[in-house]
Amino acid sequence: MGAVDEFVRSLSEAIKPDDRIPIARWAESYRILPPDTPEPGPWRNSRTPYLVGIMDALSPDSPYREVYLKKGHQLGGSALGENFIGHAITSAAGNILAVFATVEDGEKWNLSRFEPMRQSTPELRRRIRDKEVKGSDNTQRRKKFPGGFMQIVGANRPGGLKSSTMRYVLLEEMDEYLGDIGKQGAPETLAKNRTSNFGRKARIFGNSTPTIVGSSPIDRNYLRGDQQKYMVACPCCGSRQFFKWSQMKWPDGEPEKARYACEHCAVLSTEAEWKTLGYEGAYWLPTTRGEPGVASFHLPSLYAPLGWRPWVELAADFIAAKADPIALKAFINNMLAECWEDLTGQIKGAEIAKRREGWGLRTIPKGCLALVMSVDVQGNRLEYKIVGFGRNKKHWVIDYNIIDGDPAKEEVWARLTALRERPMVNSFGVSMRVQTCAIDSGGHHTHEVYHYARLYRHAGVFAVKGASSAGKPVIGRPVPMDVNHKGRVIKGGVQLWHVGTDTAKSLLFNYIASDEESIPEDRFIRFPAGLSDDYFEQLTAEVFDAAKSQYRKLPGRRNEVIDLFVYAFAAAYHPLLRLDVMRDADWSQLESMIEPVNGDLFRAPLPTPDEQEVDIVEQDQQEVAVEIAVTASEAQPAPVVPASTPAPQPEQPPDSDWLSGTDNWLD
Ligand SMILES: [Zn+2]
Repeated sequence: MGAVDEFVRSLSEAIKPDDRIPIARWAESYRILPPDTPEPGPWRNSRTPYLVGIMDALSPDSPYREVYLKKGHQLGGSALGENFIGHAITSAAGNILAVFATVEDGEKWNLSRFEPMRQSTPELRRRIRDKEVKGSDNTQRRKKFPGGFMQIVGANRPGGLKSSTMRYVLLEEMDEYLGDIGKQGAPETLAKNRTSNFGRKARIFGNSTPTIVGSSPIDRNYLRGDQQKYMVACPCCGSRQFFKWSQMKWPDGEPEKARYACEHCAVLSTEAEWKTLGYEGAYWLPTTRGEPGVASFHLPSLYAPLGWRPWVELAADFIAAKADPIALKAFINNMLAECWEDLTGQIKGAEIAKRREGWGLRTIPKGCLALVMSVDVQGNRLEYKIVGFGRNKKHWVIDYNIIDGDPAKEEVWARLTALRERPMVNSFGVSMRVQTCAIDSGGHHTHEVYHYARLYRHAGVFAVKGASSAGKPVIGRPVPMDVNHKGRVIKGGVQLWHVGTDTAKSLLFNYIASDEESIPEDRFIRFPAGLSDDYFEQLTAEVFDAAKSQYRKLPGRRNEVIDLFVYAFAAAYHPLLRLDVMRDADWSQLESMIEPVNGDLFRAPLPTPDEQEVDIVEQDQQEVAVEIAVTASEAQPAPVVPASTPAPQPEQPPDSDWLSGTDNWLD
């Protein structure tokens, strides 16, 4: 084909009136799924029938201009966005803006999703040529086709969102977008503004797994729309309803028998019954009016095609997640496609104060297997906390106090050292010490903090600094702070560790909130009798600011107690300990040393520190002398159980543990 022919062809493609084919029919007529995907070959709407109605809302003849999908995982939701774009390129050409959280996410989508679709779908391949072809104008971030181009941008770069006029906007995983870019407004608003010239011919498709109530962009837009639910028929009585998690039933401890109970006749039917008989004639039903021109759909993973995400697996996941607020949040967001409600600020300090238990400060309760310390530095004092960690995300506040005095003075730090090094004996007669210690360097006296961290690096002491931006790990990578006059890092010098304060706070507050209904033994965080009422007031001094997606201190309140928890998590997750990734076998090995079976065979665990003193005296001298290796060794601080190495005796029956325990701790 000559250049003139080519020009005429592309011109005629461009000025050709829109092909009014609906997207779902377009997909079935043209789209070929690549050979290396789970279900290769021509697209079949029967596989994911619930996607048809959403595609219809995006199609040329629909009355909607904006369409939002609040979705769970494993539903084929991403393929929907691809169909939207494929259809736009071939049938009703116009410029397309595809917005991802970051440019890198967009490039990844291009490589893993768009390019494979283009290459396997002849209709697309004809319009967007291979990038190797000279003049193809097919790059990682830009695709030229007759009648328009597609621009792939990151929501984190305002420049990309303010480019040309667009007819189509894809807002992919919008809950991952940053709130606002340099005070210019939400990325979605910037992107939407590009379509104003197209009036009713424009189409905006936003989708995402939701996050937190009040700060979730997909939820906000879902609520603007007509909130459609997918209505399926009961296989037994035929009455229409949409799937709700509360109707999922299984006998106690047997999630593999999960069935869905009809809301009307209460008959339990299997997933296969609901998804064959029940899906016949299923349709989307708007549940409210919503703003004109805005359609919104809610699609939890319960609707996934048979074999993709079985209900029995969902039930098992739910049981596993129930005991852990972080896992439960993930389940609610990713599977139920619902927002998580942050309960911070709803619990009063006085209520949490009632959770104080009978044991005193500096007492080590059973189950507590490792100790960490955190220190907050103020202008006229140090505040410190010692927190104990055990299996299954159990935490105990072991000590909390204030060391008055000017941190510029050595004596204040000497008192801290004494408290940090003082061993505490548990009810098994085993002496335990603080293994790691995180000190905040962000406030006053940074210089003194570095000095102390340098001096006691061998004892697990390190300097931290909080970073409140969302999504950061509890503890990041260390930054060397000591450099010589040539600018080179001094070996063994002080390191500064960044702490993801918001991540740690969300851990803490989720634990506290979910402990509300629990009996003491089941709580994630347990408090001793010796803590003051003020301690609990401080513990509730912050609320989650949904608009900013950040925790915020309430005016006039102190919050050192919260910061000390944050740094204690950092101390526990530090590479020296890595308690967050300990496996069951690791905990078992630690337990055999800290709570040896024979150490406890001859007497019951001790309820109060006073009795504990007496008992230690009565103990065999050999037992008292045992200062187990858990304390950070002077020469080289190493965790007793490196999480990366397999424990030598994993999961033995209790009988054999008696012997191995002896070997471990009498050495
Ligand atoms: Zn029924």
